[in-house]
Amino acid sequence: MIEDLQQLSLSGPEIETKPFRFRCHTGVSCFLTCCRQVELRLFPYDVLRLKEHLLLGSTEFLEQHTRLGVGAHPFFPAVMLNMKASEGHPCPFLAASGCSVYHARPSACRTYPLERAVEKTSNNGNLQSRYFLTQHSYCQGHQEEHFYTVKLWEREQRLTEHNLFNDLWAEVDAFFATNPWQSEGKAGPLQQLAFMVCYNIDVFRAYTRQHNLLAGFRLERDRRRRIEQDDSELLKFGFDWLLHVLGNRRTLNPR
Ligand code: SF4
Ligand code: SF4
Repeated sequence: MIEDLQQLSLSGPEIETKPFRFRCHTGVSCFLTCCRQVELRLFPYDVLRLKEHLLLGSTEFLEQHTRLGVGAHPFFPAVMLNMKASEGHPCPFLAASGCSVYHARPSACRTYPLERAVEKTSNNGNLQSRYFLTQHSYCQGHQEEHFYTVKLWEREQRLTEHNLFNDLWAEVDAFFATNPWQSEGKAGPLQQLAFMVCYNIDVFRAYTRQHNLLAGFRLERDRRRRIEQDDSELLKFGFDWLLHVLGNRRTLNPR
């Protein structure tokens, strides 16, 4: 089963251990071409990192920079980054010198020219990732005399943290694909609650306080402290909580 993390076409060749030829730098004739008119899907951790970097609230970020799109399945929407309306439809974070949110750039930007999919192995159910190489005709990076392996690319683009969160999200999104909303249908109260947990972390934090959510579960003291202080940890807790309350999974231990 391939769980589509990035609405991948998966049309390019799969890359595993063999090196691929690529280098992107300010000297390429296509510099920043790929940051225009992009259908850029944001995952929950992307939104969290971007809104922190931009010092925006999560509601503000979603309202200013995103729209809903078609998800990987009919039961949960995708969150898409809005391009600017000006000529060439550049990314709102594109500056003359390059990406102005480089350290918080989304997973898709970090991963390019690779695309990543995860699949659940049939024997033990663990997630396994696969990378595919995309080759757009305008991208001159493929002509450069420089070679990467996937491992080197992951390290250079600091993909580990993003991949970790995206794998957790893939589990949650695969669960959403089972239509846990049932007769309530899409965009009903349960789906809206799930959307808030995954994408609107400030509102979810207020919700956890209002409903004293953490008190209902046995959490190690250190984990509870991290959840209370760190939005990334709160997002992980939110994923566990959704799988527990909507899917009856044993991701959390109730008191
Ligand atoms: S099109 Fe390719 S080489 Fe050109 S800037 Fe984008 S990623 Fe780099
Ligand atoms: S976030 Fe940065 S790297 Fe990604 S499309 Fe926008 S400007 Fe380009």
